Amino acid sequence: MLQGKTALVTGSTSGIGLGIAKALARQGANIVLNGFGDVDGPKAEVAALGVKVTYHGADMSKPAEIEDMMKFAAAQFGRVDILVNNAGIQHVANVEDFPVEKWDAIIAINLSSAFHATRLALPAMKAANWGRVINVASVHGLVASAQKSAYVAAKHGIVGLTKVTALENATTGVTCNAICPGWVLTPLVQKQVDARAAANNWTNEQATTELLREKEPSLQFTTPEELGELAVFFCSPAGNNVRGVAWNMDGGWAAQ
Ligand code: NAD
Repeated sequence: MLQGKTALVTGSTSGIGLGIAKALARQGANIVLNGFGDVDGPKAEVAALGVKVTYHGADMSKPAEIEDMMKFAAAQFGRVDILVNNAGIQHVANVEDFPVEKWDAIIAINLSSAFHATRLALPAMKAANWGRVINVASVHGLVASAQKSAYVAAKHGIVGLTKVTALENATTGVTCNAICPGWVLTPLVQKQVDARAAANNWTNEQATTELLREKEPSLQFTTPEELGELAVFFCSPAGNNVRGVAWNMDGGWAAQ
């Protein structure tokens, strides 16, 4: 379905981003990976799906590096047809204790990076009259949790950016939508499980069960594969007129 198209997924060396990149690759899209840590492993996983894959190591907190990445992607594959703004970090503390540099980093990586990548991707998408901007927000784009001020602010912000981008392009073939996962067991969440286990003297299993019980009625993690299939749907012809939605896959979290 996506043969000949190019998808750039930020923060795709791990977790949800890698899951989305692989789901789009299974549909035939060539992939531009981005993110820190091991690159060869994720690159090989995507290449094994039979598409072209390349990597750019832009730090998503730095607008000049984002610009460089977008130019690199266009030089490699002609144009970015599908932009998935996924890179994100977390930090947990009360507002009055929240380190200022963590606030700035979360706003830069989880919110401003999506603005920069989107503004740089839109001209070519509009010229082609086809494009998909998919923002990985969170259930925290819809509801709040204590101790996550920067994250919740950034995620509510990206849901707003999603709606504005969708409206500005509503008469074109370019759509913009957000995905709002509940808990997904990635390194980002394992750190929160570890913190609970340490604070309460729990095993990993106890801490995991408590984490789910507190917020997620299904008591199940959403998987990167499931989120990848939602991204595929947004890219399908059936998604042509889905514009500006914030779609939860959260086990009922926000329904409460
Ligand atoms: P993860 O830690 O597994 O992956 C994060 C990715 O972002 C990695 O590839 C990392 O290298 C990259 N990254 C971090 N800082 C970066 C930077 N400055 N520049 C470039 N890349 C950077 O986390 P994840 O859980 O897969 O999170 C992905 C997205 O999903 C985030 O936006 C997160 O907020 C969102 N999300 C996660 C959950 C969850 O439960 N895991 C729930 C809702 C939303």
